[in-house]
Amino acid sequence: MKIAFAASEAAPYVKTGGLGDVMQALPTALSKMPENEVVLMLPYYGSIKYGSEFKTKYLFCFDVTLGWRQCHVGLFQLVTRKHGPKVYFIDNEQYFCRDRIYGEGDDGERFAFFSKAVLASLNALSFWPDVLHCNDWQTALIPMLLKSEFATAFPYTKSVFTIHNVEYQGWAEETFNMDVLGLPAQYTEVLRFGKDNASNFMKSAVVMTDAITTVSETYAGELQYPYYAHGMHEILCYYPQKMHGITNGIDETMFNPRKDPALASCFSPATAAAGKKANKLALQREVGLTEDEDSAMLAIVSRFASHKGLDLLTYIADALLRRRVQLVLLGTGEARYESFFTDLANRYPGRVATLLKFDAGLANRVYAAADIYLMPSKSEPCGLSQMIAMRYGAIPVVHAVGGLHDTVPPYDPATGEGRGFTFRSYNGDDFLAAIDRALALYYNDPQAFADLRVRDMKLDLSWKVPAAKYMALYHEITGK
Ligand code: ADP
Repeated sequence: MKIAFAASEAAPYVKTGGLGDVMQALPTALSKMPENEVVLMLPYYGSIKYGSEFKTKYLFCFDVTLGWRQCHVGLFQLVTRKHGPKVYFIDNEQYFCRDRIYGEGDDGERFAFFSKAVLASLNALSFWPDVLHCNDWQTALIPMLLKSEFATAFPYTKSVFTIHNVEYQGWAEETFNMDVLGLPAQYTEVLRFGKDNASNFMKSAVVMTDAITTVSETYAGELQYPYYAHGMHEILCYYPQKMHGITNGIDETMFNPRKDPALASCFSPATAAAGKKANKLALQREVGLTEDEDSAMLAIVSRFASHKGLDLLTYIADALLRRRVQLVLLGTGEARYESFFTDLANRYPGRVATLLKFDAGLANRVYAAADIYLMPSKSEPCGLSQMIAMRYGAIPVVHAVGGLHDTVPPYDPATGEGRGFTFRSYNGDDFLAAIDRALALYYNDPQAFADLRVRDMKLDLSWKVPAAKYMALYHEITGK
């Protein structure tokens, strides 16, 4: 089957969060199946174009129409990669060579351009996929473009739209179609959403795509409710037959404590007890914590955004630090969290390390060093961090929502079953109680804690099962 992915990020080229991980792993997993031909389309951000890490070759250029303008598209192909999908980069310096990849005033126009350029490039490459798999709001216009401006070029291509996070939907003004897309007026109606008659990219995808997936089964159900869906339930409820929940995996080659070059000491489930201690001591030295191999190390590696449940952590922080724990916080994001956690580290020197940066190697060292991983997300489409944590032998404490509910069943001391510690009601006291249960196991029953750690490390969290489920869905919608 011919499969094309379009996304605004994919590791290792560019990554700000879980979408980047998924866009690395899923196309790779599918490309390993001999029957598939897989391509991945990405923006040619300045960091990739002018960085020295990824070698590309220039293929050709042409223009696409955006409103009244002709916009340059340069197409580049990655040449360093021997295996996996073919990776193409869409070049337009004005749109993609900026200091950051999201958060610009003209994001809507930038990714509308990208969406049109993806379709025009695939056509120019004579690659007419059976399935064009789009991801999040940045590529949400593609299903509509596929059935309008590009319908003649792609008569047989079906689209899949994956909601990695419903919170970011791609809002624009009412006139967006007229000003930027230039599609017939009926598509302004497809985009129209909400009481201000605004345009909403994700809404158009829900209406126009052949299948919608979300990144966990529980999240697929949650999206029917206003509490989780940020308004999108009003449209999703019309298309229950399109909706599929497929829980993400993690790339087990990338996230492998046995062979991770970033770690001070590699380890397997069999050597986890000693390996984790060595990594803990190394991280304590690296980030300026008191060297203490016995103290429980708690960690978070996350975007500092409110839906990650950081308010709960700020609420319990002082109470938590009355326990014998060390806390490592790696992330960047909203200023209120950055300053709270910086202040916390100043107030608890040697016990709290706040690391305000995005650093993949350091992230893996934190997972490898931590005994307990905290993920109190208010909502969580799937969450990869808790899976990476388990793979690196850190026991997760999670709010049982979305993918956290699906991937971290609660530990039952009576049977020894389960993977971590969970709380159901979103409040700080229940979060602290769940952490206390984890700490009780860590300090009072080290053998049971070590057994749980080994079981978590051995779980099959790979992309094998989810990739097979995506293939089944592709077969279903294409009839092939
Ligand atoms: P989300 O996609 O909502 O950000 P996920 O848990 O699905 O959350 O994925 C987050 C990914 O980003 C994980 O691979 C995590 O390790 C990584 N990550 C988050 N913050 C950082 C950081 N500051 N440095 C390095 N990696 C990070």
